[in-house]
Amino acid sequence: MEKTYLMVKPDGVQRHLIGKLVQRFEEKGFQLIGAKMFRLTREQAEYHYEEHKDKPFFGELVAFITSGPVFGMVWQGDNIVALSRAMMGKTNPLDAAPGTIRGDYALNTGNNIIHGSDSPQSADREISNFFRPEELMTGDYPVGLPLNTVT
Ligand code: UDP
Repeated sequence: MEKTYLMVKPDGVQRHLIGKLVQRFEEKGFQLIGAKMFRLTREQAEYHYEEHKDKPFFGELVAFITSGPVFGMVWQGDNIVALSRAMMGKTNPLDAAPGTIRGDYALNTGNNIIHGSDSPQSADREISNFFRPEELMTGDYPVGLPLNTVT
């Protein structure tokens, strides 16, 4: 099953949006297999955003993401990487369509509420930066009757 790493950034936590964001992904039908509130170390932040290390905003980005607690989550579901990116909306909230998370809740690129992996490979890399294997549910854990069960 495809997995992704989603993270409510410090601005989303501060604005009390954790519940609303979790609800969107639950209602879509994805399965939450791990979650925790924590604060990124500088090392975790620099590794997480390594692809941006030569960009002018890198210092600010690391300072921001380590500035307060985040809510990190691992989710699974069919095509979850692409679908969760679509639900998040464009990186710059001014370009993000209404109805997307960034379109509905954010106004600037630096404070854009949520992170989501951009490929299954990035997801594996990001998940292992923040979670130990034993912190994640494995397989397709039972949550009552399968949703497609006709009784
Ligand atoms: N970012 C920024 N300034 C920029 C571009 C990006 O502060 O000019 C931040 C922004 O918070 C973004 C993160 O860097 O979410 C990672 O950028 P990326 O292009 O990977 O966007 P994402 O995958 O988060 O949409």
